[in-house]
Amino acid sequence: MKKIIVLFLGCSILFGCGQKKQTVTTFPELDAWAAQCKACKPNSFGYPVNQFSALDEFYQWYIQSGMDTINLNNAGDPFADDSYTLNSHWFERQVIEFFAPYYGFDTANLWGIVTNSGTDGNNHGIYFGANVLKQQTGQLPIVYVSDEAHYSNMRLCDLQNLEVRLIKSDNMGRMIPEDLDRQLDPSRGCLIVYAMGSTLKGAIDDIPALNAVLDKYPQMAIYRHVDAALFGGYLPFTEHRNMIDSRELNYQSISVSGHKFFGIDSPSGLFITSRDIYDAQNNFNIAYLNNNMRMISCSRDAVQPVKFWWLIQKVGADGWKAQANAILANTDYLNAELERIHWPHMCNQYSNTVLFRRPNPELVKKYNLACGQDDNLGGDVAHIVVMQHVTPSAIDRFIADLETSQQ
Ligand SMILES: *Cc1c(COP(=O)(O)O)cnc(C)c1O
Repeated sequence: MKKIIVLFLGCSILFGCGQKKQTVTTFPELDAWAAQCKACKPNSFGYPVNQFSALDEFYQWYIQSGMDTINLNNAGDPFADDSYTLNSHWFERQVIEFFAPYYGFDTANLWGIVTNSGTDGNNHGIYFGANVLKQQTGQLPIVYVSDEAHYSNMRLCDLQNLEVRLIKSDNMGRMIPEDLDRQLDPSRGCLIVYAMGSTLKGAIDDIPALNAVLDKYPQMAIYRHVDAALFGGYLPFTEHRNMIDSRELNYQSISVSGHKFFGIDSPSGLFITSRDIYDAQNNFNIAYLNNNMRMISCSRDAVQPVKFWWLIQKVGADGWKAQANAILANTDYLNAELERIHWPHMCNQYSNTVLFRRPNPELVKKYNLACGQDDNLGGDVAHIVVMQHVTPSAIDRFIADLETSQQ
């Protein structure tokens, strides 16, 4: 017993929050790592991951039902007839049909998948958009994205060999319409990626103003993809839901992460588009996969769609409404508390991301804060993303530490 305790203590030092792991060779060390993850969880403030996952009962069901002994795979199109039977396509399709109306898509003209991640959804948006525009114009488009957008968009354009024009953002992190106009080449197709929740500052691109710029060039072929990895989870469940409605904003596809707002406990996401966009993609005629391989990956996770389905039943729209309102109220509370102690900070409207002057390294580490640079807040900054587990009492703990660190 004593030996185990000694080992355990040794390992918790080994696995301190944010420390690099060393070689692990024994199962007690594995348990020590699990204990350390549990200890770090309540202070996980800097990254947009909901740590209040509602999947405990799902795992119980999964093992009780024997599903843990079956190797499932969602290769193929969830909206087509199946070639392979051990999949969860039926759930995947229901999940897409449940969420699509929240983004203003019509279920009669719909296609989508449960993705590996927000990045995977962006990859599909950029790939599908480039294909559509190439068909319309005979050449590849130019991609326009703001310099505050998530880096995955730039990476994916690099990967797909697409020309990118980085549009300047304003102090709040929003793409500047005048700079878009200045950099636009109306002789080529325009693939624009709108950020709905930029990574550092939580900015929402002013889509109506940017669309007004694009409207000046009626001859230009346009595809609009929305990168809404984080905000796409909660905005549809607030009174601001029209801000993400494709009927108002005229976008063709959207990517949302599943592990962020929805709290799925491993990377996943939603990619939603219309049937027309889907039909314009190459199907590669793979006979053994229902002749429909328009998505990028062959094998896809079959468990994530079932987790999404489970959450729709267990949490559902009412639960997500309550959570969305709570995180925005808690964001207001964090801002008010920073204001009270005169700590320089900023936060965009509709955002749950609070940027502030970077505290000392001990606090950055303790609360796993995400760091960046911003001249408006005096250089070194950090942010907190107010997810479901960043409750008022957790905020009180952080503010007390911040005040102490100032003394
Ligand atoms: C998190 C995030 C991404 C990346 O999503 P993953 O699910 O981590 O791949 C892309 N864009 C934005 C705006 C994000 O917040």
